[in-house]
Amino acid sequence: MRPSTLGKQAYKELYGKEPKHKIIVSYHARFSDYNANIRMSAREIKFNLSRKFEKCEPEIQKGVMQFLLNRMKKTKIQSDNIDLYNTFIKKMSDFAPVTETEDVLEESFWRVNETYFHGMMSLPNLKWGNRSRALLGTYTYATDFIMISRILEDAPVEVLDSVMYHEMLHKKHKFSCKAGRTHSHTPAFKKDEARFKPKNIEQILHRFLRGQKARPAKKSFVSRVMGWD
Ligand SMILES: [Zn+2]
Repeated sequence: MRPSTLGKQAYKELYGKEPKHKIIVSYHARFSDYNANIRMSAREIKFNLSRKFEKCEPEIQKGVMQFLLNRMKKTKIQSDNIDLYNTFIKKMSDFAPVTETEDVLEESFWRVNETYFHGMMSLPNLKWGNRSRALLGTYTYATDFIMISRILEDAPVEVLDSVMYHEMLHKKHKFSCKAGRTHSHTPAFKKDEARFKPKNIEQILHRFLRGQKARPAKKSFVSRVMGWD
């Protein structure tokens, strides 16, 4: 099936009518992991998908496209394909190979693992990200990757550990799906997060960040569907 036909089907099955826009689907090697985004102009809706999706079942591809449509059009329509896509992403993290690590981050991971997870969590991939103040960490489900902002390189241990803990909770809780949307900061997640000590970690974190120079965050139209902050 042609990719654009797949895109049209995704639209039609979600909204129950033909799209008024021309649908374009293209695959990109430059997208890491299973990233994807959507753009709409007056005449076109364009899906840009990571090349990795090209080898996935059409049903999963339709799922990611419907997920993106819901997000762009602010609709909350459920579909089997979206469920399938979400299940696929969750499963991916269980089988992702661990190939990257970094000493300081790994030390933090084991400290947090011992203190809050009885040492039971398996080691994910770990790396430093850009020196961002706005995005302190991300967890990418498909590749089981925790990325921590380099701005925390010189942070007090408890500050680094608190961000590590937050990302590890994403690995533990994954995400839930309701009304066609995914939720990652669920009540259960927040309850777990509140276990972190010291209790005034937010204040310590903000005090630390105020003293740090950060590069201004780049504006990006790429909506990341795979990682959550
Ligand atoms: Zn989060």
